[in-house]
Amino acid sequence: MFKHMAMWTWPDAVLGETAEQIVERLRAAHIDIVIPYLGLRDDPAPRAAYEERLQALVEEAHRHGMTVIACFDEMGTYASMPAKDYCQVRQDGEPQNLLCPAHPGAREYLLGELERVLGEFAFDGVNLEDSYVYNSTTIYDPAHSGGAEFSVIPVCYCDHCRAHAPLEQPEWNQWRRDRLSELVAAESRLVHERGLSFSVAARMPYARDDFYAAYQDEIPYYSGWQHCQARDGLAADWLSWLQQGIIDFACPMSYFHSSRLVELETLECQYRVPEARESIWMGLGLDVITAEYAQAHRDHPEPGKVHQDAFKNDAAAIGRQLDLQVRLGQQHVVFFSHAFLRDEHIPVMAAYR
Ligand SMILES: [Zn+2]
Repeated sequence: MFKHMAMWTWPDAVLGETAEQIVERLRAAHIDIVIPYLGLRDDPAPRAAYEERLQALVEEAHRHGMTVIACFDEMGTYASMPAKDYCQVRQDGEPQNLLCPAHPGAREYLLGELERVLGEFAFDGVNLEDSYVYNSTTIYDPAHSGGAEFSVIPVCYCDHCRAHAPLEQPEWNQWRRDRLSELVAAESRLVHERGLSFSVAARMPYARDDFYAAYQDEIPYYSGWQHCQARDGLAADWLSWLQQGIIDFACPMSYFHSSRLVELETLECQYRVPEARESIWMGLGLDVITAEYAQAHRDHPEPGKVHQDAFKNDAAAIGRQLDLQVRLGQQHVVFFSHAFLRDEHIPVMAAYR
């Protein structure tokens, strides 16, 4: 029923299983696209050793007619990263763990790395990892945080931004959006000129505005969504990237156990994107990767119930969410991630493609 089903595959899975094991399990689930992370950092394994296993995965997947899309995750900084000094900086001078999209040094480095991996691997496409944002220390993101207090610690105050950005002015968010969009567009050109697909993992909600107002009583995280919304909170305007053809499709990360929350986020995408059924690939969380499971303590309406098995996306929950996506007319889905693919999920997924 789906044209494509895809699986994000973290480095731990690439390191923990052979290429044959990964491909065999994905094929059993009728998943036809694997999206391995490039894992360019020397952690959890030396880069050369990791890339050797990645090459084997690309070859094995292609041998079975699968598509391989690279998850380009080079944006988060690490000790051996040559460009790590071009990172986002807080007002108090504290360096953050993401590169600054506005910094020419960061952009040159990222584009160089993207060219290198496109030359060395036979990828069929590139998917940007979810780190292409500002304000990564925005506290409160049901897909990513552990339930800290709601707040935003704004960036970027790096030397480049101090010299060029309208810091703290009303136009600052638009300026950051434009710089990030320019970077993504430059990466898009490198990918598209090779005839490959280009896509992104997208933060949700896109915007906590008119669409959700009618449903706010149904959303336990509604006040927190003010901070983690993609366009206005994180300066990541993935809708404009779609509209301008910079990306071919977007993969909103809707990692909830509640099918109703996945439904509302899917409906937000359909509300904003005319071709959402084709160009929006909803990202569904497997097993413990649900906001309700991961979200601790302060913000869950029933704090005593976090970290309970009832919030894991088991086979029955995934079946409900796939039924929902079919009912809404969506043509593609992507799962997060291979490390959380349980044997019980496999026959359920296989029935949908
Ligand atoms: Zn900066």
